[in-house]
Amino acid sequence: MLYKEVIMAIRVNPRLIDDLERFGAEDVQFCYHCGDCSTVCFHSDQMYRFPRKSMRFLQMGLGRKIETTLEPWLCYYCGQCSEQCPREADPGETMMSLRRWLISRYDITGIARLFFKSLTTEILAVIGVAVLTGAFLLYYGLSQGNFSIYDGEGAFLPSHFIHSFDLLVGACLAVFLLINAVRMWFFVMVRGTSFPVPWWLYLKKLYLMVWHFFSQRRYAECKSTRPTKIFMPWIVHLGLMLGYIIMLVLVMVFIEKLQSGPRIDWSVHIFGYLASVGLIIGTIYFIRKRISRKNYVQYKKSHSTDWVFVILLFMIVLTGICQHIFHRTGLNELANGTYIIHLMAVVPWLLRMPFSKWSHLVYRPLAMYFAEIRRDALERQDAVLPSYSY
Ligand code: SF4
Ligand code: SF4
Repeated sequence: MLYKEVIMAIRVNPRLIDDLERFGAEDVQFCYHCGDCSTVCFHSDQMYRFPRKSMRFLQMGLGRKIETTLEPWLCYYCGQCSEQCPREADPGETMMSLRRWLISRYDITGIARLFFKSLTTEILAVIGVAVLTGAFLLYYGLSQGNFSIYDGEGAFLPSHFIHSFDLLVGACLAVFLLINAVRMWFFVMVRGTSFPVPWWLYLKKLYLMVWHFFSQRRYAECKSTRPTKIFMPWIVHLGLMLGYIIMLVLVMVFIEKLQSGPRIDWSVHIFGYLASVGLIIGTIYFIRKRISRKNYVQYKKSHSTDWVFVILLFMIVLTGICQHIFHRTGLNELANGTYIIHLMAVVPWLLRMPFSKWSHLVYRPLAMYFAEIRRDALERQDAVLPSYSY
């Protein structure tokens, strides 16, 4: 155990702070380790103490150590630590930047790193995928269908074809996310855990992953640091996330029912309407907050990739609603045209997910799951926690 930690400690990256600047953290060097931030952090506890520990590791250039930690994922950016910091070192934003940095470390392709470091590269990639998608759909539609037919025989983009297309995109998304999740597990549970973890703990704690995925419970706990009864960002974030999941299920499983019409099939469309409401409210809320930069520290700074995410999402929601209205009112040419534009936004948005902040949808519940497994395993060792304070 000692040998393992020494080996990791000597792999110092003196340029780590400079590197992290490109991911959004600009003030790490101002930290003088008073520890106020860890004291006020609602989520910090004896085993997972942050954000001071992360600030320290960053200043020491311990990138290899940081990539084995879970703390950045246990932070929900309530902003309390940044408001309290006497040195204006912005630990909350540093934790946010570390999450972006970790996403780039889990990603084996290097695409996430490219996107986070260069907005131009990301925009070119998004445009490239959108153009390829549009060209492919146009070619397919014109070669076998009629632009004035939306559904049924001779349809420009028949629902069975769209279903196969969606499954293909979904499979690419799942493969990338799965590889990244395995890498996260390897970093945290193999390289970063120096005590044995019984295999059955993975089964025993599995429910935690599902619970945190659907409830985002930890985000809700941030409310106690605010004078308001309900922590609004949690509600909106939950609505956005559930809207996204419902839409994904509808598109991957029920697309043929969803696309039939013009009669409205309430058994599936009601879920589509609910999901759209969640997505619209969530998108407008976060765009407004980021533009006005009011109320919460987390909205005062936005990374360029955050904007690519919300702008694409806004386009998806808007074109999805227009396409739905055109189809239901019998304007088939407009419905088909809008459908292509809609899919030109959907495909790069989905394919971008494993390389963007949105992948936290997977990493956050995984982190809670791993954190509790490690806690339980350590208690079983009857081990003594490190005596130094963070
Ligand atoms: S409060 Fe600020 S200066 Fe103090 S340890 Fe945290 S980040 Fe560093
Ligand atoms: S932003 Fe909030 S949750 Fe994150 S480290 Fe700071 S105090 Fe803790």
